[in-house]
Amino acid sequence: MIIAAIEAGGTKFVLGVYRTGGDGLPALLSKTFIPTTSPEETLAASADYLEAMARTYGKPEALGIGSFGPVDLKPSSPGWGHITATPKPGWQNTDLAGYFRRRLALPVAFDTDVNAAAYGEYLWGRAKGLQDFIYITVGTGVGGGLFSGGKLVHGLSHPELGHIKPKRFEDDPFPGVCPFHGDCLEGLASGPAIAGRWGAKAEDLPPEHPAWDLEARILARAFATYALVASPELILLGGGVGLRPGLAEKVSLLVGQELAGYIPAMASPGRLEGFVARPSLGGEAGLAGSAALALRLCTE
Ligand code: ADP
Ligand code: ZN
Repeated sequence: MIIAAIEAGGTKFVLGVYRTGGDGLPALLSKTFIPTTSPEETLAASADYLEAMARTYGKPEALGIGSFGPVDLKPSSPGWGHITATPKPGWQNTDLAGYFRRRLALPVAFDTDVNAAAYGEYLWGRAKGLQDFIYITVGTGVGGGLFSGGKLVHGLSHPELGHIKPKRFEDDPFPGVCPFHGDCLEGLASGPAIAGRWGAKAEDLPPEHPAWDLEARILARAFATYALVASPELILLGGGVGLRPGLAEKVSLLVGQELAGYIPAMASPGRLEGFVARPSLGGEAGLAGSAALALRLCTE
């Protein structure tokens, strides 16, 4: 079976066509990038590519889209499948799912980029078979997908794990960069927050720089809150900042300190090791996750 996938990001759209078969990750037949400019340009170029791929590989059974947000995910809402109140100029109220459904005449599955990535890790990655876990990306922004009781959580719209306010550390007076909240998690721990606080790009800060110790402490505080609220078995940490070697391990240990032994199931020796881990699909999690959403649509 052929399925199509779009990871719709604020900087670029990543598009892929997969052939499924067996239980493992489907085979990626083709992949491309399209810069995120205006919705008209980006959506048309994306649909052109998918049409060309359909001529080469056959028509896909479904398209999965994992999108930057905020998005409307209420099935009963007339705005379902739209990007809603994004600060990204020109993209407010863009009907992503509807555009592709009309142009390509395909069933379309639609969710947040991080929920898609979580679902991909559940089907094919490190969270395979887990009923309760979180996928969080720390990059240009901070976002999280929450998988609870064997299902992606949507709720009123979708969880916004990046915008909680962890208690501040006294040695960090940085005001934060979130345009909505200042010093929420995204405001304190995203790539732009690190750059704003230390005056250098996150990727240019060496491993021994104090930035990384503070980053781990801030993330651990937020993750301890997630552990208390959602009781996940695992937190997968992705994104340009999150994938820094050693960061997940550091955060795991600090989550234990934050919880101070309060969750007995997490206090047993060695349990915290690997509580925060790198997603096994790595940078492919978003696109593969979007394919996973499409596959679910075909099989459920
Ligand atoms: P996006 O969030 O835009 O999808 P990324 O997850 O790659 O993309 O995140 C980009 C952010 O990650 C930028 O703020 C960048 O400075 C930071 N970043 C990229 N590579 C690294 C790295 N090796 N170490 C630390 N930070 C990085
Ligand atoms: Zn915020």
